[in-house]
Amino acid sequence: MTIIRATVLDTPGTLGDPDGLRSGEDVALVVRNGTILARTDVPSARAAYPQEEVLDLRDGVLLPGFVDTHVHYPQVRVIGGLGMTLLDWLRECALPEEARLADQGYARGVARDFLGGLLGSGTTTALVFGSHFAGAMDALFAEAVTTGQRITSGMVLSDRILRGELLQSPAAALEASEALARRWHGRGRLRYAVTPRFSLSTTEEMLEVCAELLTEDRWFTSHLNENPAEVAEVARLFPTSIDYLDTYARHGLATERSVFAHNVHPTDRELDVLAGAGCAVAHCPSSNSALGSGLFPLRRHLDAGVRVALGSDVGAGTGFCLLKEGLQAYFVQQLLGGEGAPLATADLLHLATRSGALALGMGQDVGDLSPGRQFDAVWVRPRPDGTLAMTMRHATDPTDALAKIFALGSPADIAGVWVGGHEAFRARPTTAGVTTPQEAP
Ligand SMILES: [Zn+2]
Repeated sequence: MTIIRATVLDTPGTLGDPDGLRSGEDVALVVRNGTILARTDVPSARAAYPQEEVLDLRDGVLLPGFVDTHVHYPQVRVIGGLGMTLLDWLRECALPEEARLADQGYARGVARDFLGGLLGSGTTTALVFGSHFAGAMDALFAEAVTTGQRITSGMVLSDRILRGELLQSPAAALEASEALARRWHGRGRLRYAVTPRFSLSTTEEMLEVCAELLTEDRWFTSHLNENPAEVAEVARLFPTSIDYLDTYARHGLATERSVFAHNVHPTDRELDVLAGAGCAVAHCPSSNSALGSGLFPLRRHLDAGVRVALGSDVGAGTGFCLLKEGLQAYFVQQLLGGEGAPLATADLLHLATRSGALALGMGQDVGDLSPGRQFDAVWVRPRPDGTLAMTMRHATDPTDALAKIFALGSPADIAGVWVGGHEAFRARPTTAGVTTPQEAP
């Protein structure tokens, strides 16, 4: 058991609540076996548990672990491919790199880069778009067992249009996915997600395989309405479907356990179907800007009752950190003017934490720092001589301090990350300018 002493900011309520930010200065979180047992003041915690060690994190701010609802494992090494729209970027940048994961040794290195990148950016839970290769999925899941993150992922399925080495037959896809799900689903913090790349690259037969794979406890994710050229091509390939969402929904793939990435260009009918089925949408603002995909209609989603969370969409997205995605989401709604949904500072934290937990059906376990939740947390402690630290010292209240973290914060400001009470990441102290006694002249 540990008593964590910190300034704690979280958003346990609903998105859009004007009083949604809960803040406490010098809060004591009593953590036992990874679970928050109590949230109280320090004297009470010390009195109740006089023998327990105290971890003092008061220098900085403690936030819940971030939840990324859309991020591509095989694309970590191609972050930063600017100057293209979606279909060109896939062909020239993403898919050649994804093909390299056929080599399991290469995939193991990518898995380490990927999960390490997520952790160092404060992401403790993620719905991960996987690889087209079963061996690469084994590499990801095995590495995730080591790092301890909460990962939901699955092999990516495609049987047309993409480069040949990324395609499988529906029968082979069924067999390999079933074997992966049996091996990894429910092991530790891992879950399996049925993952057709997008209906553009999947035939009806492959989508039927997805329906067969989507048993009651598994998850589903894919892409939806990202870019106008993609939407038009899907309409051409599925002449009998009502719209893009219908290509999935008519196979039973729009469920409470379905998360669709992007949805920048939805019809009103699609929003109604998503809301009615209880699906969630992963909003990926920096990717949408980088690829010129469009300005996400958040207000229409919320008005229709569709659940929305954040995704970094690495590698089209420009980094793992959900602080940046929160800020980008804010920018996009500002740019939409009267059609935008103005986001308050508390909403940015909600989108990066609790909204994601709810979208992934994990609201009972993670997303805020209430008693009963897992201790998944991010310790933001900026460099004392940097601009973020300076502005935080001058913050007028906790909301203002949080706004400064979203405006200026980056992975460089993250000092530690915990998953299930275990310290999974600690920033390395710099050794620059330090001389050890042995080295001293
Ligand atoms: Zn994506």
